[in-house]
Amino acid sequence: MDFTIEKYEELISALKDAGYEFVTYAEYCEGHRADRLVVMRHDIDRLEMSTMRIGRMERRMGVKASYYFRERHVCSKFLISFFVDRGHEVGYHYEDLVTEKGDVDKAYARFVRNVDKMRQVADVRTITMHGSPTSRFDSKDMWRVYDYKKLGLIGEPQFDIDWSEIFYLTDTGRSWNGVSRRDKVAEFKSAWEAKGWVYKTTDDVIKAVREGSFPKQLMMTTHPQRWADNMWKWVKELVVQGVKNFVKRIYMN
Ligand SMILES: [Zn+2]
Repeated sequence: MDFTIEKYEELISALKDAGYEFVTYAEYCEGHRADRLVVMRHDIDRLEMSTMRIGRMERRMGVKASYYFRERHVCSKFLISFFVDRGHEVGYHYEDLVTEKGDVDKAYARFVRNVDKMRQVADVRTITMHGSPTSRFDSKDMWRVYDYKKLGLIGEPQFDIDWSEIFYLTDTGRSWNGVSRRDKVAEFKSAWEAKGWVYKTTDDVIKAVREGSFPKQLMMTTHPQRWADNMWKWVKELVVQGVKNFVKRIYMN
């Protein structure tokens, strides 16, 4: 079964064993480079226990990631500190233009407020956009008028990454071979495919990492809520427990 926490751990191990250095997106923006480098990015669309488990596991494995939280979480000091205390980067996953229904000035004011709230707990230096595929507004249009760099923000992957230098993978749709329609990286996809950089399952990725055919520089976006705890284990546990109870009942009566 793919997209389980166990599978994610296996992926991290494979990358570590192959010598990939895990750098946060802020560090990447500051010019941190390595021969093999991965920016592990987590967009927290929905908060689940698996998000904390992944944060804790990465810490245990000695790797850093960048976590992006939406507006509903910017005031949660407990949540934000949980990741900061474990050495991760925390940033803002914005969608203010959608929330403000296209009103750029209101959206920007809202954006500033949200970043300020997060900054009470974390040194917020980078942001990522929440895609809001069903909305007719595109939150990155805010940056036609305003400049997030004036707020001391050094990175937004849609603008501040040269995608000819770094490969992009995202777990959209429980597979690795999709790209959200609002992602600027979409235009690089065919060039990557021509190089054979096509992966569907996490096992495909792990195999390529182990064989050495995997790109040496990449940003990997995952949505931890999609990496559920191993459901089958859980179902099996229930069934086994149910059978035991059933057998017990028969013999006890
Ligand atoms: Zn999102």
